[in-house]
Amino acid sequence: MNIPFVDLKAQYQSIASEIDGAIKKVIADTAFINGKYVKQFEVNFAQYCKTKYCIGVGNGTDALFIALKAFGIGKGDEVIVPANTFIATSEAVTLTGARVVFVDCNPNNYNIDVNLIETCVSQKTKAIIPVHLYGQPADMRAIRHIAEKHGIKIVQDCAQAHGAEIDDKFLANFGDVLCFSFYPGKNLGAYGDAGAIVTNDENLATRVRMLANHGRISKYDHEFEGVNSRMDGFQGAILNTKLMHLPEWTEMRRKNAELYNQLLKGQGDIIIPDVSNNVKHVYHLYVIRTKKRTMLQQYLKDNGIATGIHYPIALPYLQAYCYLGYKPEHFPIAYQYQNEILSLPMYPELTANMIEYIASKVIEFKFS
Ligand SMILES: *Cc1c(COP(=O)(O)O)cnc(C)c1O
Repeated sequence: MNIPFVDLKAQYQSIASEIDGAIKKVIADTAFINGKYVKQFEVNFAQYCKTKYCIGVGNGTDALFIALKAFGIGKGDEVIVPANTFIATSEAVTLTGARVVFVDCNPNNYNIDVNLIETCVSQKTKAIIPVHLYGQPADMRAIRHIAEKHGIKIVQDCAQAHGAEIDDKFLANFGDVLCFSFYPGKNLGAYGDAGAIVTNDENLATRVRMLANHGRISKYDHEFEGVNSRMDGFQGAILNTKLMHLPEWTEMRRKNAELYNQLLKGQGDIIIPDVSNNVKHVYHLYVIRTKKRTMLQQYLKDNGIATGIHYPIALPYLQAYCYLGYKPEHFPIAYQYQNEILSLPMYPELTANMIEYIASKVIEFKFS
């Protein structure tokens, strides 16, 4: 059996006529940039997130950058970021001129270790970017407590966490602003680049909207310099179409994860995801851990199963950050994880049959 890591074609085929119709309308209305379909998506996505405002932008990296800029963060400031995430999280900080301060991972669940955050707070700390990595919410109660105590802003990186919840409440309840990516492989994926910023703060929403569109509201009255990061009309129409299916797709991901858990639990040194019982994990990725990661990955590949590693080099150890001079002992958990984590195929269209096949090969490897 051949099982891809993600299968965007299968998803398109299940909704092809809706998507094709949506694309045709964008052309007929020449609503190419922002425009009525982006507006509709913004209204619907704000409602989905149970928030007041949503601003569509060019991609998830821009969403983070613009949110930080909207808080006035720049040169001389520091922003706290987890050691294990995609580089976009830290890149957005550096782009503003601020300095990235990494924090190691929680020893159990891959998110930021909230017990280490306060040791990294300084006079210069202006914000923290918790990442809800792989779709599991970070410990936002603890993070909000620390942020309020030190007067620092919370910019949530929700790129992998569309629809995730804590105590049955959506993530907007736990921080100032939420940044989403709709990169095609994300839980809600566009057919190109797209992102959004979601907030309940009206002033922040206005500032974000202006920053994303050359510092203006109407055509040529630029109050300040911003950037050009607007959502494309096609992406708005496609996302609007796909948003209606997202709750169902999320449930399918969760069901798939449950089946993986059942089959892989207690299988030798395979460590399945550790999920806090008060959160709704939306499984952008299903990540296991084993000391024999490289050999297992090869074994699965030989059996037609594609896997991924998210991420093979923790951020502090990338060439891009060698100027910070970090050693393995600075982020021991992230350093250990980068050699042990393995992402198994995860998408709504994955069948029980396929999951059983993948699990059987993982178990077979253990005994081979
Ligand atoms: C995908 C991703 C981003 C960036 O999103 P783009 O739309 O690709 O710019 C940021 N943070 C995390 C954690 C991501 O997974």
